[in-house]
Amino acid sequence: MSDCIFCKIISGEIPSKKAYEDEKVLVFHDINPAAPVHVLVIPKKHIKSMADIKEEDLSLIGHIHWVIHNLADELGLQEGYRIVNNCGKAGGQEVPHLHFHVLGGRTLSWPAG
Ligand code: 5GP
Ligand code: ZN
Repeated sequence: MSDCIFCKIISGEIPSKKAYEDEKVLVFHDINPAAPVHVLVIPKKHIKSMADIKEEDLSLIGHIHWVIHNLADELGLQEGYRIVNNCGKAGGQEVPHLHFHVLGGRTLSWPAG
């Protein structure tokens, strides 16, 4: 999608601080971190939100979680972390390209905060 911020980050048109990349996903640091560690994990395929995934995307969604699992140590998240997906308007999604927030580096409160 040519007008999508995260597709522009994938293409390099918008710079980002990358934490991990493979053929299917990109992980980069959030520009406005809500915790000492705050990265965004995005598929390179443009999918608008969790409401828009298809059955054919299930392995990709699994891969995203496997990447998070494998990256946690390197990001200094040995004490734990939180994975957040905001879906749609009421879910607080601002960027319409599927992304998973990974937050940590401090004790997170619950409900969210
Ligand atoms: P959402 O509210 O859609 O779940 O989260 C979007 C996230 O993307 C926000 O935490 C916001 O700070 C982050 N973000 C928006 N634009 C950019 C950008 O250009 N670069 C980076 N690194 N993060 C961004
Ligand atoms: Zn996109």
